[in-house]
Amino acid sequence: MKVAIEGCAHGELEKIYDSIQFLENKENTKIDLLICCGDFQSTRNIADLRCMACPIKYQSICTFYKYYSGEKIAPILTIFIGGNHEASNYLQELPYGGWVAPNIYYLGYAGVINVGGIRIGGISGIYKGHDFLRGHFEHSPYTEETKRSVYHIRNLEVYRLKQLSGKIDVFLSHDWPRGVYHYGNVDELLKFKPYFRDDIFENKLGSKPCEDLLHHLQPSYWFAAHLHCKFAALVPHQIDKTDDEGNTIRKNTKFLALDKCLPKRKFLQIVDIPCEQDATKKYDLSYDLEWLTILQLTNHLLNIKSQYQYMPDANTSSKERSNFTPTNEEKQTILEKFSKNLIIPLNFQQTAEPYNPNSSTDSNHRIQMPNAQTNKQTEEFCAKLGIDDPLHLVLLNNSNNDNNLTDNSSLPNYLTPERKTNQSYNDNESSLIFTPSSVERNSIKRLSLPAPKDDSVSIDKNDESESKNSNEISSIDQEIDNSKGNSFNQKSNDCNPSDLNPSPQPTKKFKRRNASLYENS
Ligand code: 5GP
Ligand code: MN
Repeated sequence: MKVAIEGCAHGELEKIYDSIQFLENKENTKIDLLICCGDFQSTRNIADLRCMACPIKYQSICTFYKYYSGEKIAPILTIFIGGNHEASNYLQELPYGGWVAPNIYYLGYAGVINVGGIRIGGISGIYKGHDFLRGHFEHSPYTEETKRSVYHIRNLEVYRLKQLSGKIDVFLSHDWPRGVYHYGNVDELLKFKPYFRDDIFENKLGSKPCEDLLHHLQPSYWFAAHLHCKFAALVPHQIDKTDDEGNTIRKNTKFLALDKCLPKRKFLQIVDIPCEQDATKKYDLSYDLEWLTILQLTNHLLNIKSQYQYMPDANTSSKERSNFTPTNEEKQTILEKFSKNLIIPLNFQQTAEPYNPNSSTDSNHRIQMPNAQTNKQTEEFCAKLGIDDPLHLVLLNNSNNDNNLTDNSSLPNYLTPERKTNQSYNDNESSLIFTPSSVERNSIKRLSLPAPKDDSVSIDKNDESESKNSNEISSIDQEIDNSKGNSFNQKSNDCNPSDLNPSPQPTKKFKRRNASLYENS
């Protein structure tokens, strides 16, 4: 399968599709799938733009709305994860993934899907230690703090991903796994990005949870973006297998990060990924049975409070289940719930008015962030699987506590039986997980988090000339070959045993006193 990988899209969907078409014509080939690694900016209208964390001067509607309104049809099946510049109100409607426009699929806070036999997983957002242990408490209209914290990754999603057991072909993250620069040409990287030197030297560039996931999941490919440069690496994993002749098999992850969509920048790469399906057939997206089962088995861990919550840990918890890698029986139960049909339904529906380029722009500055709303795609998915929509719970909580925040009639009826028996959202005692007490609600309102240090770096859009010609078709192996040697304080193909020992399942519980480990210094 010919897959086009894009770094940060920054709303330039039209340019990306044009670039792909240019490559297709030039190379006389056909691209089957486009994968975007965050900062996608699926803004449907001006109100969505207000929900995107970025300086007002960069709040440009760009071209996604054309594919949302139906003015244009995405010419290639497109999959994306979220980054740190998103229409967060829209993405929050689809916490478990869904169609943001026809042919454009968002993976959710975290997700795993199958395309033509290729298993693709991903995690949205960027890592900030101070929000990692919180629940999904944010909603539109956002404060300046929640507009940013909403895209910070949470331990629940990392924990769920760590329960996966089968082979992962492709994994996606917006920020890089920490330490991945040790396995490529770091000198070259520092020539292009000299100001990474200190962070690399102190091994704090990138995401610690993604580093854990990389060594734990050991996917064949890992694609990332965010740092606005192209960088390839080959990450060796511990030798734990032998073939029939007794030779050891070394498993590697081919890592590739790409730049943002700007002229003369390396933002696009075509990768040919071996797949089972006949290339002449249309590719369908399918749910991943193991992932669905993990979502269902861990639904009780869903937290909508801003308070820290720890995941179950075999070493400390007594009788509580802490390993959620599903058994075959558990997977069968879920398969039955889906009537043995895992094809993702094409159930896109508009949930907000698309931007109208012909309308007067005079009043745009008066457009505010909209109230949060739930999405039918998520409602259907949750009802089928028997899990809860975090945004639905947040809205119920608000409507019970603070009636003027949302219109109760727009809420879906579905709630898992466990949550239904717990409808008393004002009762402090009734639920530990999703019922903030009035005291805590006040503390949520008062909560003043430190401003993120580096995730509001401005988007450089000075150079707006033709974006074509800046990318070539070269193989990822070629990229990795080019990047070998000259690595920083470690040979590029050397394997650091301490880095490569995957953490045993289940994951370690983060003790409160250890939370400081996850604070960015
Ligand atoms: P964004 O487009 O997400 O606002 O910004 C990404 C920019 O922030 C990139 O240019 C990248 O170089 C910079 N950046 C992001 N994270 C880090 C980090 O941890 N250290 C350094 N030095 N720069 C970062
Ligand atoms: Mn970014």
